[in-house]
Amino acid sequence: MSLIHRTLNSGRIIHARHSPNFNDRPEGESINCIVIHYTDYLVFSEFLACHLDPASKLSAHYLIDDDGTVYQLVEDERRAWHAGVSHWNGRDNVNNNSIGIELQNGGMTYKEQFGDWPPYPAVQMQALAELVHDLQNRFSIPTEHIIGHNDVAPTRKIDPGPHFNWDDLRGRVARIHLPISSIKICV
Ligand SMILES: [Zn+2]
Repeated sequence: MSLIHRTLNSGRIIHARHSPNFNDRPEGESINCIVIHYTDYLVFSEFLACHLDPASKLSAHYLIDDDGTVYQLVEDERRAWHAGVSHWNGRDNVNNNSIGIELQNGGMTYKEQFGDWPPYPAVQMQALAELVHDLQNRFSIPTEHIIGHNDVAPTRKIDPGPHFNWDDLRGRVARIHLPISSIKICV
């Protein structure tokens, strides 16, 4: 496995953590969308541990903590296990052709405990925007192909939830003017 620490052109470091929970994308599948999730966990370290545990059979390509720290758990070219039973744009099994990004956010679990949806901090949204910008450039993903888990599994899922601001994300991505990404390896 060649998952490595790397740095986006924005300077943000992507920390590598190897999840065992992935397989190959089916023959002929290419990456053409990004699915955004919330973790639904109150404690990020517990969510990360879950996604590193082979028993969970869960993973996403990227996890972003609410302080903006970005982790990569599965190589982009491999198939992570984040969307579950899903359908989008005329296709079943969205894991086959998507990149999954999990945002640390207590979601429904937090709402049930504290009465309201938790916010997405600006520092976290900025990290997401820089990652999305990088992925869009590397894989030629159109903006309308950046979607929520609720878009691909509408009867089961509501994440990233009502406090996720799509306009804010699009604005942040649009304000990033960097050359097309080339991956720099941290040594
Ligand atoms: Zn989700």
